[in-house]
Amino acid sequence: MSLPAPDAETLRQQLTQALTPAAREVLALAIERAAALQLPLYLVGGPVRDALLGLPIVELDLVVEGDAWLLAEALASATDGRLTQHAAFRTATVALEHQGQPLTIDVVTARRERYPAPAALPIVEPATIQEDLARRDFTINTLALRLLPDGDVVLLDPFNGREDLARRRLRVLHDASFEDDPTRILRAARFVARLELAVVPHTRRLIDAAVRQELLLRTSPPRLLNEIWLLLDEPAPERALALLHTWNALPQLGLSWSPSIFTTFPAARRSLAPQLLPQVYLALLWLAMTPAARQAFGERYNLPAWARTLARELPQLLALPLDRPLDAVALEALLRRFPVALLHALALSSPATIQANLRRYLDEIRPLPPLLSGEELRALGIAPGPTYGRILRALRQAQLSGMITTRDEALAWLERLRDDEHAGSCYDPSRHSEV
Ligand code: ATP
Repeated sequence: MSLPAPDAETLRQQLTQALTPAAREVLALAIERAAALQLPLYLVGGPVRDALLGLPIVELDLVVEGDAWLLAEALASATDGRLTQHAAFRTATVALEHQGQPLTIDVVTARRERYPAPAALPIVEPATIQEDLARRDFTINTLALRLLPDGDVVLLDPFNGREDLARRRLRVLHDASFEDDPTRILRAARFVARLELAVVPHTRRLIDAAVRQELLLRTSPPRLLNEIWLLLDEPAPERALALLHTWNALPQLGLSWSPSIFTTFPAARRSLAPQLLPQVYLALLWLAMTPAARQAFGERYNLPAWARTLARELPQLLALPLDRPLDAVALEALLRRFPVALLHALALSSPATIQANLRRYLDEIRPLPPLLSGEELRALGIAPGPTYGRILRALRQAQLSGMITTRDEALAWLERLRDDEHAGSCYDPSRHSEV
């Protein structure tokens, strides 16, 4: 039994509620410009899905039947947005700030796709909206709203996506879906985890078959890595990873399963800034892997600089003697050079003593501002050179051991140091720290 079709007014209301006022204005502008250019305009995929679920729309995905660049250019100039055009599929992105909020609008030309070989990139041609919806991954992502110039909206739902959405089901459109594009296995895990869906049995059998055929091993590493980043950006990546584990897909991605991420990932979310989370998650995954598996991951994927740094520093960090009580000076000397994401990840996954050392360093020592800066030494008339490093290091040690605690004490210490140096004595911070 299928769901009754929603009326236009209900749809308009759902859309309006899901949009920020800024996005609403920009969408109205897009409708106006598309009408002027005589381009049929549709809101498609994620935003329609999310609006029907009552979730906020975070990105506007627009499809036009005709040249997407024309609309994107018009929209960018009307909003003063930054236009990026991708020649391959003649798609475009407009990034703008509206009423102080960042907003991204993807504008694409309706297209059909043919896959010349499994896991290969598709051959693309301009097409109708119906054909465009037929190239998509899951029924819940095939919903489109025709946006008419008079403000009316019409729902297009050729694959019964609204019913699957209402019943929280994930379903592919055809049996070759994962063969055409194995990255859909990761996308499936993300949507199921995020939207609390169930994979329908037939789609699950297709996932199992794709995993048995090891299709992910034939997929280009950059595409897989992109999906791994998207996965680590999910609100609860451990749920998507657990699904990939259940589907036996993790080894083909070069990842190992560890049930500990059910504890460490949520703990990371509770205590850390959101922008640090993907790095910490990656480090947590690596910490649960063997050195050989970590190395293979680094060789397979062309990692960005920050991830290469994590990979390089991780064995060094693990080799440190952190399983005994250490004082502040020793902690800073050992830990200063390591990326914070790595330190947080190790703290989250270590036994009590190591954790206490890392927590103390991260929470108390690292945030402690230096008492004087190089700039201030210059202002005090000390000639720049290697002495700066020596003075600042000695001052930091005195600060961490509690011998000097204020800027005034630091200045007095520096004065005495300079007097002594003029007198030719050799420099010893502890001698100068009794203020
Ligand atoms: P999210 O909320 O994660 O951004 P989204 O649905 O907007 O979800 P995007 O990755 O932005 O996801 O993709 C936009 C749309 O393009 C999807 O809704 C889907 O219809 C289609 N799509 C994206 N990737 C694929 C793919 N690999 N195969 C088929 N269709 C895809």
